Amino acid sequence: MTKRIWNFSAGPAVLPEAVLNEARENLLSLGSTGIGILEHSHRGKAFVAVYEETEALVRDIGQVPGNYKILFLQGGASTQFAMLPMNFLTPETTADFLVTGAWAEKAIEEAQLFGKTHVACSSQDRNYCYIPQSLAFSDQPAYVHYTSNNTIFGTEFATIPTVPAGVDLCCDASSDIFSRPWDVSRHAVIYAGAQKNLGPSGVTLVIIRDDLIERAPKTLPTMLQYRTHAKNDSMYNTPPTFAIYLMNLVLKWIKGQRGLESMAALNQRKAGKLYSYLDQSQLFRATANRDSRSLMNVTFVTGNPEVDAKFCAAATKAGFDGLKGHRSVGGMRASLYNAFPEAGVDALVEFLRAFEAEGK
Ligand code: PMP
Repeated sequence: MTKRIWNFSAGPAVLPEAVLNEARENLLSLGSTGIGILEHSHRGKAFVAVYEETEALVRDIGQVPGNYKILFLQGGASTQFAMLPMNFLTPETTADFLVTGAWAEKAIEEAQLFGKTHVACSSQDRNYCYIPQSLAFSDQPAYVHYTSNNTIFGTEFATIPTVPAGVDLCCDASSDIFSRPWDVSRHAVIYAGAQKNLGPSGVTLVIIRDDLIERAPKTLPTMLQYRTHAKNDSMYNTPPTFAIYLMNLVLKWIKGQRGLESMAALNQRKAGKLYSYLDQSQLFRATANRDSRSLMNVTFVTGNPEVDAKFCAAATKAGFDGLKGHRSVGGMRASLYNAFPEAGVDALVEFLRAFEAEGK
């Protein structure tokens, strides 16, 4: 088999090798069924068992309370940007946004199609390098929306933002879901595309409080109402069966790592090693403010785009893939999701050190 290299991609991203091996074994026959996982009907016993187990794993690992529904939808987190306001915002009401990056900007743009919006905070003034501390909400927001981890800018909320009592909080957790314990009960909705921490692209996990489901207008297209998916256990239409199956395996892998407390400790250690190196480096520096640093996406620069490009080219040649930063930040970005091995971080730090020493 071709040798696997260090994959720092921001998503779709590296998956645990044990998961890939197990999936490979089940491609031709899921267990002893004689039918591969890709070929099973979503209504058949074998897939329904996978589905039910996946839902139970999400509930168990994420400590999702009983009054929340777990949905497996399609259309990515980008569809949730629109589905939330479609279901919960009207032309007369206002949704508040914590604008901490490009994905938050996209979410607010979609909401503007359906109702009023208010920026409760923004870090755009410094190219989104920090998470603002003070929030100014509108009167009686229909809901508040935030992005727990800003994939492009390498910043992450250290704690859940506090909203006025009784106000519904919605979280785009696409790039840090299940990387640490996060209190679901403080949210109305949490959603995440799977392709960073949960599995492959093609499925979006939505965790939604029961009482919101019937709040939406029934005039919306059927597929865009949460109630459709809630009533039909995400099987109103054909769900992304393979993506759900892979999520099942990834969740079991997380459980095998002893859950989210251990996952958080591992993620702290991995990102900590890279930040420690960057903090003492004479050549590289992290772009995010210290108090806002992401454990999932470590963004860094040399300050000289030519040197950044030279570094990226050398890194690719040495077997480190996906380190080029997003064009809006430049420099480099190392995505260190749950499944990214610690040995890969050690190897990157060694490579950075050698590159820096060579230039001296
Ligand atoms: N939100 C965040 C935080 C993201 O990182 C991304 C994708 N990188 C999205 C939303 C968009 O997700 P999708 O491509 O699944 O629509």
